[in-house]
Amino acid sequence: MSRSDNVPSSRPGALASLRRTILPRGALGVLAVSAIGLFLTVSGPDPAGVRSALALPLSFTALAATWWIVRWRARRATAERSVWRMFSLGCLLYGMGAVVTVVVAVVPRTAPLAEVPAGVCGVLTFPLAYRALVRWSRHGSGVDPDDLLNGCASLLVATAVLGSVLVWTTPQGHAAGGGLLTSLPGLRQVLLVQDSAVIVLVVAALTAAFTGRLYRDVRLWLVTAAYLLAGAGGLVALAGGGVTRPAWSLPVWALGLLALSTAAILPVRFVPTQSSDPVKSTVGSFVVVLAGLGTAVTVVATGAPGILAVVGLAGVLGSSVRLLVNTGELAQLAASREEALTDDLTGIANRRAIVRQLDHTLAHPGTREPGLQVVVFDLDHFKEVNDGLGHSAGDDLLRMVAQRVQPALPAATVLGRLGGDEFAIVSNAGAQGEAVLGALDEAFAEPFHLAGMSVHVDLSVGRAHWPTSDSPGGEGSVDAAMLLRRADTAMYDAKRNDLRCTTYDSARHGETRGLLSMVADLRQGITGGQLRLHYQPQLVATTGELAGVEALVRWQHPVLGLLMPGRFLPLAESHALMDALTREVLEQAVAQQARWHREGLHVRVSVNLAAGTLLDTSLPATVNALLTHHRVPATSLVLEVTETALLREPERSLSVVEGLRALGAQVSIDDFGTGYSSLTQLRQLPVSELKLDRSFTMDLLSDPRAAAIVANTINLAHALQLRVVAEGVEDEATLAALAALACDETQGYLHARPLPADEFDTWLTQRVVGAER
Ligand code: C2E
Ligand code: CA
Ligand code: CA
Repeated sequence: MSRSDNVPSSRPGALASLRRTILPRGALGVLAVSAIGLFLTVSGPDPAGVRSALALPLSFTALAATWWIVRWRARRATAERSVWRMFSLGCLLYGMGAVVTVVVAVVPRTAPLAEVPAGVCGVLTFPLAYRALVRWSRHGSGVDPDDLLNGCASLLVATAVLGSVLVWTTPQGHAAGGGLLTSLPGLRQVLLVQDSAVIVLVVAALTAAFTGRLYRDVRLWLVTAAYLLAGAGGLVALAGGGVTRPAWSLPVWALGLLALSTAAILPVRFVPTQSSDPVKSTVGSFVVVLAGLGTAVTVVATGAPGILAVVGLAGVLGSSVRLLVNTGELAQLAASREEALTDDLTGIANRRAIVRQLDHTLAHPGTREPGLQVVVFDLDHFKEVNDGLGHSAGDDLLRMVAQRVQPALPAATVLGRLGGDEFAIVSNAGAQGEAVLGALDEAFAEPFHLAGMSVHVDLSVGRAHWPTSDSPGGEGSVDAAMLLRRADTAMYDAKRNDLRCTTYDSARHGETRGLLSMVADLRQGITGGQLRLHYQPQLVATTGELAGVEALVRWQHPVLGLLMPGRFLPLAESHALMDALTREVLEQAVAQQARWHREGLHVRVSVNLAAGTLLDTSLPATVNALLTHHRVPATSLVLEVTETALLREPERSLSVVEGLRALGAQVSIDDFGTGYSSLTQLRQLPVSELKLDRSFTMDLLSDPRAAAIVANTINLAHALQLRVVAEGVEDEATLAALAALACDETQGYLHARPLPADEFDTWLTQRVVGAER
């Protein structure tokens, strides 16, 4: 990671300030002087030709200064590095074109075509400028960040439209029946495409400004002005039917450079994100398709040059492909998400599907009367089968077990393999629950035929019920993992005691011991300042720059030491302490963020919200008060919620989420992929980030289906203008794979474990120093 605005300065004094302010301002001064000089070269008579001789060096100085300033920004910006890098590449390309043009101009035979190389390079900068703009407004506009296809299609259609307009409206174009486009081969065409590019870029900038909330960012207006000023001369030239730009076009072009450079020098601000709206990008593609078709038809009907129709239709083709790809991606994602729920070996549900099923039932308790039963069973002495008869015999046995158990089960129960030789069955409690046990007895009564032998297999069964008999009203804190763990505990108890089946009993299996005193401790701990936040970095996948941190709570228990969230969050949730805990966490996180901001580290901070907190309609006001008090911009706060939480009481939680968005805060979907949300719901959610669950990241390299899901999820998320953060990245290979799939950011032990703020600062400094060496 190189030095950036977001990194506290470790290099003191003069050198730092030279780099930070003096040099860029100096370069801007040079640019301003060159622009003034260029104005002077065109004002008033120039008998000795001195002024026009100065025009060339002044233009190159202006271009070089601009390139330097933009590159300076690209090196320092964290959030917008790729944007400014593209602008700086664009300047470089443009400069190269200008150099070639100068060379061509001095050779008499080629002199009339002198402007062609500059024009061609100008056109070639379009993809860079377009991408820069779209990437910048990624969350604001309705455009896919890397949607170059749409951009180029728009350029083709704009060229066809502008060309037709010129043919019809300018005397030369009209008289020559399109001669405008065929005379002076090369130059006019290039000018036409270049001017169309300016128009597309300005339209894209305006779309970003108005459909997003980018209009508050003065830098966007400066960049828009830069496009317009740089292209003004060419537009006027074409409109006049000629190719010679008016004399003022050079100084005006320099003004454009000045606008771009000023935008680069102004401090990077966090752009408020806006609810994703795929409709906009689809509408965009449709508009391009319609405009292209309309132009082609009109061109043919009016006898204008056919090339314009061809160009327009090429644009139509591009946008149509984009639309098709979009639809295909959606369908593919739906299919692979479905596939990811089956176990490869046996074809029954896998662990993910079981967890989903449980979560769904827990979120909709009414659907399971009289309650829920989870049965977990495994095969006794499976290891001996595997070792003695070989792995393929072991696999055969697992398949046979699934084949026998599945049909024996009552309707509306779900059988899944959790992994290894461990299976789970989700069913109703009551009569159906008993029938499940009967089905298991039946399935294992007969021996299995394996490798030519007849093998009798026995099993151990554990079951857990929800709600439990000691809390018939239900326990708020229960989740899928906990139910599976309880059934598992019961199963091991059965194994230990040589029983066939044991039912989980909280009194015997021990979760309640000391519970009440623990609750009292926790209540005291929340208000008594015993909660600690650890921060885990989220890094840009391709560059490793710091983009944000996730705040994760720990409890410094006076006797038990530092406790992880798994130990106390369920308690907080079941004993109505979650709101107080969340407020405390938010307070600490925002205060820490304010501290970082004061030190020059403008980092995004993510805070987790529990499902219950999402139902608290006063939350947006609380968050607002906190942000105002600490003077932290709402846009740099991210609130993570899970899909399941959003679905629990969708209307109420959605209104809380919308309230948060209205403040400008970002909302992220945590643990994405484990929940139940459908694509349609995802489209409607006003969120700006999606956190890919660790289970997918972990399996990325080993499980092709997980890889397919990750790839599709990233594509879909990008189509919906969401940032994707992959959780649980533990090795370089996974990081590389994620970066290759265009995942935006990664978080995980590979980079750092969650760290207390001071250790986090040390980690960051070491990273910066390491990168500078
Ligand atoms: P989460 O939001 O999914 O947080 C990520 C968890 O994954 C953290 O566990 C983190 O330490 C762990 N992790 C990060 N990178 C890796 C990795 O590379 N490998 C592995 N194996 N694990 C990794 P932690 O801190 O124990 O938090 C567990 C859960 O507790 C969180 O899951 C979140 O749901 C909840 N939680 C934590 N803090 C808060 C809080 O302040 N409020 C609420 N409501 N929930 C919280
Ligand atoms: Ca989280
Ligand atoms: Ca997570």
